[in-house]
Parts: sequence; structure tokens; C-alpha cells
Amino acid sequence: MNFSQIPGQEAVIDRLRCSVAENRVSHAMLLYGPEGAGKFAIALAFARYISCESRTAEDACGVCPSCVKYDKLIHPDLHFVFPVIKKKSGTEPVSDTYISQWRSMVLKSPWFSLNNWTEAMEVANEQALIPVAEAAEIVRKLSLKSFESDFKIMIIWLPEKMNAETANKLLKIIEEPPARTLFILVSEEDDKLLPTITSRCQHIRIPSISAEALTGHLTNVTGMDPVKASEIAAIANGNMVKAMALARDDDNTGVLLDRFTRLMRTAYTRDIHSLVTWSEETAALGRERQKSFLSYSLRMIRENFVMNFGGKEKKMVHLTRDEDSFSLKFHPFINESNINALNREFNLAYAHVESNGNTKMIFLDLALKTMRLIR
Ligand SMILES: [Zn+2]
Repeated sequence: MNFSQIPGQEAVIDRLRCSVAENRVSHAMLLYGPEGAGKFAIALAFARYISCESRTAEDACGVCPSCVKYDKLIHPDLHFVFPVIKKKSGTEPVSDTYISQWRSMVLKSPWFSLNNWTEAMEVANEQALIPVAEAAEIVRKLSLKSFESDFKIMIIWLPEKMNAETANKLLKIIEEPPARTLFILVSEEDDKLLPTITSRCQHIRIPSISAEALTGHLTNVTGMDPVKASEIAAIANGNMVKAMALARDDDNTGVLLDRFTRLMRTAYTRDIHSLVTWSEETAALGRERQKSFLSYSLRMIRENFVMNFGGKEKKMVHLTRDEDSFSLKFHPFINESNINALNREFNLAYAHVESNGNTKMIFLDLALKTMRLIR
């Protein structure tokens, strides 16, 4: 991962390069910002830059032994911590349990979401967490002498997925870190981190990527035509993970739209039997997929509401062609009488899925409430 492969974050990258040049790299850094902004890619490129044996002012060399190992994610002084899913049987997993899946996902693309990662672990319908056993692993790895670099670097992806016990153990290490250790925390929900941890980190906000930078990346990297690229960039709203998924069309936008359309049609026709079938099908998906669907629905509800106020003419509505053709007929059904209640119900369902509620109940309840609200 080179700095030059990361679009739209030149200011942040410049700041990081300066900190190396001026020899004032903080021993604990918190890169935070929205999904798809490139936080992980920046963390990885920065770690590679620090470890490079002949870096330039601009970037790592790409050919020294350190860079070569970084490019395979096998540098002995580079450690990763990330959320993992407990298997039905066996000992409690730690990051190393899933390290081969992790390496292959990251090497495929440094732009990924928690959704992508839980799918890569291939354990469905479970929440990924950083378990308490990981704290002991962190201590063990950092107590090793650094093998080849000046620094041991530990990239912790989504530290907000730690419980309090793990976080407290980590806090002790960050307070009194072993010599020449660098922590890079990469967070999407930094408000969920212990203030005692964040107060010990240097905070670096990574903003979402501008539409121009996203468009440029899509045209340069995927060879997409500029019109389609700018359409995707508008929908992705600064999120590279989303943009790449839309570009590959494997975020199942078609599947999400289909699921949303079926819910709305059966709710409108009050077809209870189909609503039950719909909710059972949706309840059988993994939790991350369920959350994607609920976020998608909230977006569709919002866009359709805006359409009622001439949002389309004012270019305030961002829909794909298929979404647009559904919404042309659908948008009058989302209006001032139900927009707040619909928003509330879909947000509530999201919160319940996230807190491990019974998904059969959640989706049946959501389907019935939608039936009542959509008429
Ligand atoms: Zn190098």
C-alpha cells in the first residue's frame, strides 16, 4: 500500500509524512472517521513508510526487504488486531485465528467494511468482537524484541469492538508501552472508545473522500467511464468501500432493492402471508447483511421523501436507474404523515439487530409496522 494509491487524503498523508521527517511520531495514534474514508489504507501505508529502509520524502521505496514483507503482510514487526467471531466450539478465537483470511482480504483490497470482514470469516449471523483473550496476545507480541525494524507496529482495526475488560487491559499497555512500539487505532465509532484510551492517543480525523477524488479513482483504477463514475461517486457519498462495491455491483444493490421493493409492495397490498415469508427470509441473513439492508432502506425512504418536494429537479436525489424507476411510482407513499414513524421503526430495528435481538421478531414486527404506516 503506497500513499499514492490513496485518493483524496493528501492533507492527512502530508501531515503523517511530516511527523516522520520531524521525528515526532506519537506512540499511540487514533485515526478516526466514517466508513470507506481510507483509514485502514492510510494506517497500513504509514506503517510501511515508517518501517521502510530507504524511504523518500514522498513514500516508501517499495523494494527494500521491509517493503517486500509489508506487501505480503508478513513483516514480523507488524501486528494486527481486529474483531473476530467466536466459533460454535473450540477455544476463544483471537485475531491470529483468522490471520490468513485477514491477509487475503486486505491483499485483495484495502477498502473494506466490517460487513466484508465478517463475510470473509465465513461464520454467519454473529457479531464480531475483540475478545478479552486478545489483550494477553497484545502483551505477548509487544514483549517480543523487534525483529527487523526500529518499531513494532500494532494496527488495531475497530477498537470500539472491545468490551470494557479488554479495553482496560489495553489501556495499561498504552499507558506504559514497551519501548519503540507504535499503536495505530483505526476507528469508525470513536465515541464508543474509553475516554481514558482516546486521551492517550494523538487524534487524526480522516474525512470522507470528495466526490471528485472518488470519481477520479474509479475512472483511473477501474477504467469506468467518467459519467458512470460520477453517478456512483454521488451515491457512495464519500465512501470508497461503497463506491467500489457499486462499481463491481457486488454490494447486491439489486438484491437490496429487490428486498426493499418486496417489503413495500406486500405491505401495501396487506398480504400477510408474503410479509411473514419476507420477514423469515430476512431474519435468516447474517446480522451485518441485515444492518446493510436497514441502512439501505433508510436511504431509500429519505430519497423518496425528498422526491415529493421536487428534489429530483433540484438534483438532490441520488438514485441508480433501477431505484429511480421504482421510486417514480413509490415516492408519493412516503410523506409527512409517515416519514418520522418509518424512520423511527427502521432505526429501532437496526439498534435491535445490533444488540443481538431475536431477528425473527424484529423483522416480523418491522413488516407489520410498515404495513400500518404505508397506507
Ligand atoms: Zn522500502
